Amino acid sequence: MPYVAVDGKLREECGVLGLYGRGLDVARLGYFGLFALQHRGQESAGLAVTNGKEIKAHKGLGLVAEVFTEGDIASLSAIDAHIAVGHVRYSTAGGGGLANSQPLVASHLRGHVALAHNGNLVNSDKLREELEGQGAIFHTTSDTEVILSLMARYRQSGNENALVQTLTHVQGAYSLALGTDTELIGVRDPYGFRPLCLGQIGNEGYVLASESAAIDALGGEFLRDIQPGEIVVIDERGARFRRFAESPVSACVFEYIYFARNDSTIDGLNVYRARQELGRQLAKEHPVAADIVISVPDSGTPAALGYAAAANLPYAEGLVKNRYVGRTFIEPGQALRELKVRLKLTANTEVIAGKRVVMVDDSIVRGTTTQILVKLLRQAGASEVHVRVSCPPYVSPCYFGIDTPSSAELVAARCGVQEMCALLGADSLGFLSLVGTLAALSPAQAPACVSCFTGVYPMSIAKLKTEADLNRKADDWGDVRG
Ligand code: SF4
Repeated sequence: MPYVAVDGKLREECGVLGLYGRGLDVARLGYFGLFALQHRGQESAGLAVTNGKEIKAHKGLGLVAEVFTEGDIASLSAIDAHIAVGHVRYSTAGGGGLANSQPLVASHLRGHVALAHNGNLVNSDKLREELEGQGAIFHTTSDTEVILSLMARYRQSGNENALVQTLTHVQGAYSLALGTDTELIGVRDPYGFRPLCLGQIGNEGYVLASESAAIDALGGEFLRDIQPGEIVVIDERGARFRRFAESPVSACVFEYIYFARNDSTIDGLNVYRARQELGRQLAKEHPVAADIVISVPDSGTPAALGYAAAANLPYAEGLVKNRYVGRTFIEPGQALRELKVRLKLTANTEVIAGKRVVMVDDSIVRGTTTQILVKLLRQAGASEVHVRVSCPPYVSPCYFGIDTPSSAELVAARCGVQEMCALLGADSLGFLSLVGTLAALSPAQAPACVSCFTGVYPMSIAKLKTEADLNRKADDWGDVRG
């Protein structure tokens, strides 16, 4: 039975990690680093390590703590590796299952390769068809294997050049961590959809990670973001950077709104500060007479704090999150859906009763969870419930590494704000405008992708995967998401 989180949120599809360093226990550090990226994928986890002669990998379905035992880590550590590549995954293109979990590992005459990918390729089906026509055999249904297969085609030119040649064929979102026998290579696609950054660890070690929070967790020092269209190659000579493509940058704004950790900094903008600023803008655009501001924890909290500060209203913990629920196996039906939301979030009657409440959330996807939360607040005695959302209405699916329902399931694609407000049972509803969103995020160095708010995509829609692909994925979710 598929499982879903009960908070009704979109899901980031992956986190990637890479470590390089002689004398470092890269296996154990990699294991710890994956914990710091767990929020980016809870369906599977994996780690591959190499000492230059031998490559060893361990992967499994579930959370990092479920996938690795002490024995697994000891076995990976035993080969005295100096390169590690790690991955956490929610289902990406190609679906779930152990076969599709990463890193993908390949061996050929010239050595070994381990590859971890965050993002979605939009032309992988076409490339796969071409490669199969030329005799290639695929072991997974993951779009990431297309990259490995193309690299094998160019392997005579060496790993770095083979990778650069491969990247001229692939389109879409990809932040990669790739380990060979001698190098750790990081790549961020020319649009820069997904983040990727580099840190130093120990005297001469390096850590590549989807988010800077993982570098911090390992005691490393943040060096810099990998730029869109840039490769970093790390070997015994150190780290060197190479630009492989130019294109209009289109970094995902949702990393700031919801996906990334509060304590990460992406392209020069701290996520916590960005969320607070989104909340401040929201208060300016949608003020309301109220007694308290509460958040939908945890990702809505910085925006709620920003809203409360700008509106000069007290912030209180009106919804309390049970942090031990984790994954929940789904059953259809409204009653169980409601029960599962209640398991994860309960209204704090002491705070709520008799109050005019502003509830700040970072996004609304299907609307079902918000509807239940409004009901919970009313049952707890709220005299008014005003819903405020720190981003614009989410009206269009994402094709760039975010697991999204089809347009038909997105409440904002079906309803205007007034209709949605009535559906949610709220006294008022306000979304942050696109202009306000971009103003709040303006300190970020990169221009932003806002396609899920506009339906206008940074690359030709003809190249994108079909809604049928997304719908297939949505079916796996069951009906619990909001
Ligand atoms: S469509 Fe939305 S979620 Fe997808 S990359 Fe663009 S901003 Fe991010």
